[in-house]
Amino acid sequence: MKDKLFFTHMMLNRESNQRKSEKWIHKNHTDENTVFIPIWNGNYFFTSSNVSKKCLLELSNATDIFKSNFQVEGCLDDYAYFLGCDIENNNSATFVIDLSLFLPSLEKTIEILSSIIKENIESLDFRYSISLVSKEKASVLGYGRSLSHWHQSSQYCGFCGNKTTSKEGGHSRKCFNENCQKMIFPRTDPVVIMLVEYQQKGQAAKCLLAGHNRSPDNLLSVIAGFVDPGESLEQAVVREVYEEVGLSVEKIDYMASQPWPFPGSLMIGFRVKVKNNTIIIDDEELSSARWCTANEISAFAEWGEDGDDIQIPRKESIARYMIDDWIERNTL
Ligand SMILES: [Zn+2]
Repeated sequence: MKDKLFFTHMMLNRESNQRKSEKWIHKNHTDENTVFIPIWNGNYFFTSSNVSKKCLLELSNATDIFKSNFQVEGCLDDYAYFLGCDIENNNSATFVIDLSLFLPSLEKTIEILSSIIKENIESLDFRYSISLVSKEKASVLGYGRSLSHWHQSSQYCGFCGNKTTSKEGGHSRKCFNENCQKMIFPRTDPVVIMLVEYQQKGQAAKCLLAGHNRSPDNLLSVIAGFVDPGESLEQAVVREVYEEVGLSVEKIDYMASQPWPFPGSLMIGFRVKVKNNTIIIDDEELSSARWCTANEISAFAEWGEDGDDIQIPRKESIARYMIDDWIERNTL
């Protein structure tokens, strides 16, 4: 079942010790097997000459391309972030290279990339890119999206306000200010996500699905929330369940986790039993909440379908994974 969980099929070895060496990173910049995946503010690029089969744009020899096509200061270190080495492909290094840091126009970026590879190029937001690639590649694109977003939002030191610079192949940044020199590291925001279930004696088990104020009216999903500073995951689960639907938690079982690159969360999924079934919703967060049996949920529509029928979350989400897992356990 866990094989179905999107963004968890990582085929790259992160080489977290090797990547600390600037020399090792630079050797990989010029290796002929190294792959550079261009990204522009969350958009990836696809060759579109063949309409039925769009291919993700990956560049080799980026050092040469960089020198001859882009008039920018600095070196690849400032824009290319090492993701890992491909275990199944000559152990070749993969970098994501963020062109938006020196090319402010997406149209201009497409024009330059098209002229480099002499093919038509189109850009696609990360959200839509993942449906055109394998699940292994989607995990890599998610990783690249999260890491490049962190760099975009960390160009200045949060302590003194000076510029920062990328280090360790893009896995840290250091403040330029001699008197500060703070190091910062990519952040991940933990989110607890809960499938809440309740079973009355002699009746079918029910799970709680809620409509969220920020989602389409007909979409029902599980509930979730960010972990507070100073809070354990278990405490966050108990607090969120009580705050959002007024239910008291009786038992918590860990299910699975999923990196969620929108832009940099880690979803941590729990199956939660509650002591009672009287729902009191927090109407600032939720528009509705209801108890559903497995049979009822199975009849709901797919995410994104036309019409007003109740829908369940998209297949890539851990929310959907948790709902499907629960249906499997509770279908009579
Ligand atoms: Zn600083």
